[in-house]
Amino acid sequence: TSVAERLAALVRTIPDFPRPGIQFRDITTLLLDPEGFQLAVDALADSVSGPVDLVAAIEARGFAFGGPLALRLGAGMLLIRKDGKLPGETIAEDYALEYGTDRLAMHVDACAPGKRVLIVDDLLATGGTALAAARLVERAGGTVVGARFIVDLIDLGGSDALRAAGVDSVSLLTYE
Ligand code: 5GP
Repeated sequence: TSVAERLAALVRTIPDFPRPGIQFRDITTLLLDPEGFQLAVDALADSVSGPVDLVAAIEARGFAFGGPLALRLGAGMLLIRKDGKLPGETIAEDYALEYGTDRLAMHVDACAPGKRVLIVDDLLATGGTALAAARLVERAGGTVVGARFIVDLIDLGGSDALRAAGVDSVSLLTYE
């Protein structure tokens, strides 16, 4: 069985969450399985070729994968959080949700100019969240070297949106 098949067996689908008609892909069941969790982190690490200085992980499920991935890559971990959570001086970026907007923030001094930054989250849908994270890193002077996800909901076009912005992305499994 392939890595994608093994991971897919550990991702649970919850119908009608957070709203009727949405099939939520729940990675908490993957995290509960130590072999699957390790497999996912190893596969993400193996998909990275060049050097990475910082893994920029997106709150909240991106943190779960970002920490172990950063250590495997010999990189630090940069927290991208919902606005209002970080204690120091921040920069913020708005991004569109299906209904309305939301705002991500990072510490303004978290990424020295020239740092090579890999963005990580659990799931790619439209790409709006990851693109907001990429804008934050680039405003701080960092270079986004790519983005990594466990799951890509391919019909929502996130990998195309990232590619159009010059961000190479890899996801370990896909759903239509
Ligand atoms: P996007 O901004 O690409 O449209 O949405 C991706 C963001 O929404 C990610 O931060 C991801 O955690 C969250 N998200 C949206 N749908 C799902 C889902 O079905 N499962 C999980 N685990 N996260 C989702």
